[in-house]
Amino acid sequence: MIDKPLNWHRPAALEDAQALLSRFPDAVPMGGGQHLIPHWRQSGTPATVVSLGLIPAMRHIERHGRVLRLGAAVTLNELAASAAVGDGIPALSSLAGKMGDRLMRNRATIGGALCTTSQAGCLPAAMLGTRAVVHTTARDIAAHDWFQPRGPGGPTLEKGELIVGVSLRIPDAASHQCLRLIPGRFALLTVFATRAGHEFGVGISGLSASAFRAFAAEAWLAGGAAAGSTGLDRVFEEHPGQSDIQAHGAYREAQARRLLKKAAEALLA
Ligand SMILES: Cc1cc2nc3c(=O)[nH]c(=O)nc-3n(C[C@H](O)[C@H](O)[C@H](O)COP(=O)(O)OP(=O)(O)OC[C@H]3O[C@@H](n4cnc5c(N)ncnc54)[C@H](O)[C@@H]3O)c2cc1C
Repeated sequence: MIDKPLNWHRPAALEDAQALLSRFPDAVPMGGGQHLIPHWRQSGTPATVVSLGLIPAMRHIERHGRVLRLGAAVTLNELAASAAVGDGIPALSSLAGKMGDRLMRNRATIGGALCTTSQAGCLPAAMLGTRAVVHTTARDIAAHDWFQPRGPGGPTLEKGELIVGVSLRIPDAASHQCLRLIPGRFALLTVFATRAGHEFGVGISGLSASAFRAFAAEAWLAGGAAAGSTGLDRVFEEHPGQSDIQAHGAYREAQARRLLKKAAEALLA
């Protein structure tokens, strides 16, 4: 699979990773390689890879009051198994534990998922629903800004800029709803909704070209999610369901509406 000699680095400090990325301009940062390695089959391997898995500044899972801080190199299995995550946001543990298969979860990282799964990824919906902030080596970016402008085109990190971690708001209640057509594969749709006091957060992925924070659904929930209310219709006026080989747009909309109603039942019970 590796078609030429690879200049492989595993730095033990964030500064060393940054130094390598500036020293080798073609260097590619790598989390678990679950997206990159299959991609190399088509594009060929890069000359230099900087693996981020040993960097302590990217390996933390910490709770500070009502905020959960997760390092970018934390794997999805570590996320699913963490007591701090399970206590703070059980719906996030459950989401992480259902992504893909165990082999993938054992390698894939939060940073890698943030960079590659903007359309149908489960994690983006959770980041948007918890109103997360993405911390990079250069700036802090609200999840809403991180995902919205990207579409499926890939991350907007500057050359050499790394995701260090994310901070998530710990809500009073959270609900993860998803529609998965094939076990072990991406969910077709994911809704991740939270309630903190009278405030709601809703992230949806799989409905349109990019995961998005559903402000209209948040307003609908804040209004009590009344049956027959037109509030929910606004979600689909603003983000029409996308038709592709997997599903028709109208099907996606009907299923997203169903998942949102289930999330409302869970949060408002
Ligand atoms: C079999 C399988 C099933 C899957 N199922 C699901 C699913 O159900 N739901 C879902 O949401 N996803 C799913 N995925 C996608 C999976 O979540 C991503 O492929 C994975 O999270 C990528 O993480 P990684 O650490 O392996 O990324 P890598 O392949 O290492 O990197 C991906 C990209 O991110 C960049 N990158 C990585 N870390 C950083 C960082 N800290 N800073 C800056 N750039 C960085 C890399 O340079 C690269 O461009 C599945 C993937 C597979 C292979």
